[in-house]
Amino acid sequence: MIRKIPTTHPRANSLIIREKLVDGFRNGIVVPQGLIAHGRGEAFDYLLGEKTTKYAYEAQRAAASLLLLSNKSIISVNGNTAALCAKDLVTMSNVTKSRIEINLFHNSSTRASSIARILTKEDAFDVLGLNSKSKAIIRGISSNRKYVDKDGIMNSDTIFLALEDGDRTENLVRMGKTVISVDLNPLSRTAIASNVTIIDNIVRVVPNMIRISEQLVKKDKSYLLQLIKNFDNKENMHKSLLMIKKGV
Ligand code: ATP
Repeated sequence: MIRKIPTTHPRANSLIIREKLVDGFRNGIVVPQGLIAHGRGEAFDYLLGEKTTKYAYEAQRAAASLLLLSNKSIISVNGNTAALCAKDLVTMSNVTKSRIEINLFHNSSTRASSIARILTKEDAFDVLGLNSKSKAIIRGISSNRKYVDKDGIMNSDTIFLALEDGDRTENLVRMGKTVISVDLNPLSRTAIASNVTIIDNIVRVVPNMIRISEQLVKKDKSYLLQLIKNFDNKENMHKSLLMIKKGV
């Protein structure tokens, strides 16, 4: 049960997110380390004014274009993202025609099944990452994140991920995958290694990505390609970092 937060509270949004994660923790979806990882993100979000900046929005437009142009895109889901925005992740997978794969740093088949149940309840018809017979291994990673689905991340061209560890991001990019990451910390290894880095909170990113994708899907392929060509990830991240430094 998620504790009710008065909407008049000045920090209501932030407190609601915390409550969802605590609820996810009680339900065995979120691990304690996930709560700590959220704390790191929350600190950056505070400095960003808990808003989607214009730079994050530009990154989301580039990310949506990449997903729409991909043939085999995957949305990687973990405990925190499932607890925070399962329904929106399923909608985003439908709008961008991406498959969903559960991928956990602190792996457990029980937790993966609980996350899959939540996604299925939100009408996901296809959740990868559960079948041990379909397991593939990414070389060079020591954590459990090395296990991926051979029909999912291993076979994908573009991967959308959040709250990811740097090791795997670096390896996925090395493998030639296009990686879109959502990370509030522009200094993390994931943020630095990704092809498109969205410096924003996952709870705002996914609804934005749905809206943007619904608009962009109506555009010509050349329009999307131009949007990607005009996007400079390094410059975009630098501008986000300056906003954090200056304060909003
Ligand atoms: P890296 O290995 O890439 O350097 P890290 O060790 O700093 O990353 P992790 O603890 O593996 O990071 O993952 C948490 C990351 O996710 C942090 O960088 C944090 O800023 C970010 N994060 C946490 N909560 C959110 C959220 N709700 N939305 C977006 N990013 C988030």
